[in-house]
Amino acid sequence: MSAEQAEDLVEQRVGEVVDRLRATHRRGVTKPLAWRHAQLDALAALLLEQRDTLYAALKADLGKSADESLVTEVGLLQREVAHTRRRLRGWLRPSPAVVPLPVQPGTAATVLEPLGVTLIIAPWNYPLLLALSPLIGAIAAGDAAVVKPSELAPATSRTIADLLPRYLDARAFAVVQGDAETTSALLEQRFDLVFYTGGEHVARIVMRAAAEHLTPVVLELGGKCPVYVDESADLDVAADRIAWGKWMNAGQTCVAPDHVLATRRTAEALAPRLAAAARRMFGDDPLRNDAYCRIVSERHFDRLHGLLDPAKTASGGGADRPALRIEPTVLTRVGDADPVMQQEVFGPILPIVEVASEREAIERVADGPKPLALYVFTRRSSRRAWTTGTSSGSIGFGVPLLQLAVPGIPFGGVGASGMGAYHGRRSLTAFSHEKALLTKPTRPDTVRLLSPPFTELKRRVL
Ligand code: NAD
Repeated sequence: MSAEQAEDLVEQRVGEVVDRLRATHRRGVTKPLAWRHAQLDALAALLLEQRDTLYAALKADLGKSADESLVTEVGLLQREVAHTRRRLRGWLRPSPAVVPLPVQPGTAATVLEPLGVTLIIAPWNYPLLLALSPLIGAIAAGDAAVVKPSELAPATSRTIADLLPRYLDARAFAVVQGDAETTSALLEQRFDLVFYTGGEHVARIVMRAAAEHLTPVVLELGGKCPVYVDESADLDVAADRIAWGKWMNAGQTCVAPDHVLATRRTAEALAPRLAAAARRMFGDDPLRNDAYCRIVSERHFDRLHGLLDPAKTASGGGADRPALRIEPTVLTRVGDADPVMQQEVFGPILPIVEVASEREAIERVADGPKPLALYVFTRRSSRRAWTTGTSSGSIGFGVPLLQLAVPGIPFGGVGASGMGAYHGRRSLTAFSHEKALLTKPTRPDTVRLLSPPFTELKRRVL
C-alpha cells in the first residue's frame, strides 16, 4: 500500500468515526441529564476499578510511581468527576438576565446547549489526566467526543482506548490512537470544538485546520513559568514547594516552575535548600530511585541533556541515557543568553536568574510572553503589584501547581500560553454554547414603541 493510500484509509476510518458520533448526537442520545450522570458515574467506576491498570500504564510510559499517579492524575480526575456530578443539575439551570426598560415586558435567560461533536487532543506528560479531564467537560455538556491520546505515551493511549468503550457509551465517545498523521486526518473533519493540550507549534497547526471549518478551539499550551522568590519569604518552605512543583513528573509539567527569579543573596540561600529538598524527595541517587519519573523519550532526553551546563551547576547534573533519567538539577548565575532560557525547560533542570529587585522581576515578566502560571514567594505586601503588573494564566502566591486542583478557578492560559479555560463549571461552559433566550408577550404590544413613525411620545419613552 502506498503512503497516499494509507493516508486515505486513515482519513476514511476517522471520517466514519466522526459520522457515527454525529448521528448519535443528532438523535439526542447525549442530551438527557440522566445520561450525562450515568456517563460520569461510569467514568468514576473506571477510575476506581481500573486504578492498577492505569498505574501500570503510567509507570510504563513515564516511570511514574503509583503514589505520584494517584496524586497527579487519577486522584485529580476522581475529584473532578465527583465535583461535576454533584453540581451538574444546578449548573444546567437556565440563568435569568435583567431585561432593560425598552424591551419590557419580557423575560430573558441563557441556557447551555451542547456544541455537538468535539475533538480532544491530549499530550504525553499527564497522558491520562489531560485526555480525561476535558472529557468530563464534554460529558457534562452533552457532547460526543473523539479522544486522541498522545502517541508518546503509548501504554496509556492503549489503556484509554481499551477501557473507555467498556465503561462509557461507545455510541458517543471514541478513542482514536495515532501520531501526527492521524491527528491531521482528524483535523480534516468538521468538529464543533477542538480542545488541544500541547505545545505552541502544533497549536498553530490545530488552529489553522480548525479555521477551515470555523471550528472554535480551546488551546491549553505551555511556556516558561517564572517563580519569584525574595528574602522575606520562608526560604525553607519555598524551596520545598518549588522542588515539589518542579521535580514531580521530572519537571515535565506545563505549570511547573520553569526558572527562578531572585536577587543574588536570595539565590545563594535558595540553591542549597533546593538541593536538600530534592534529596529529601528522591534520596542521594535519584537516577536509581523508582519514585522519580523518567524523561518521556530519547529526543526529549537529548534536548534536556543539551541544556545542562557543568560550569553553572549548583546541584544535580547527572544523567543516565539508557534509563532516560536526569537528576533534579539547579543551575545558578544563568543569563538570558543561556540555552536553558531560550526555550521552555519542560524537564528537571531549574535555572536561577538573578534580578536586582522585585520591580525588575515584575517588569521582566510583564515584558515577556504571557506565562501559563506565575509563582510568587514573598511575605511583603506586593501581591497587588504582581496581580496588576503582570499577565498570566494564573498566579500561585506561596505555592506552585495547586491552582489546578481548585475546580472553582479556571485553568487556562493567555496570549502565547493558550486560549480558553476549563475545570469545574468552566469545563461545562467550554464545551457548551450559551444560548440566549428572550420571551416577550404579544400584549401589550410594546414593540410598536420601537417602530416608525417615531412620535414625540415614543422618543420620550426610548
Ligand atoms: P505535542 O504537541 O507534541 O503533542 C500533543 C498532541 O499533538 C499529540 O496528541 C500529538 O499526536 C499531536 N501532534 C503532534 N504533532 C502533530 C502534528 N504535526 N499535527 C497534528 N497533531 C500533532 O505535545 P508536546 O508539545 O510535547 O507537549 C508539551 C507541551 O504541552 C509543553 O509546551 C507543555 O507546556 C504543554 N502542555 C500544556 C498543558 C496545559 O494544560 N496548558 C498541559 C500539558 C502540556
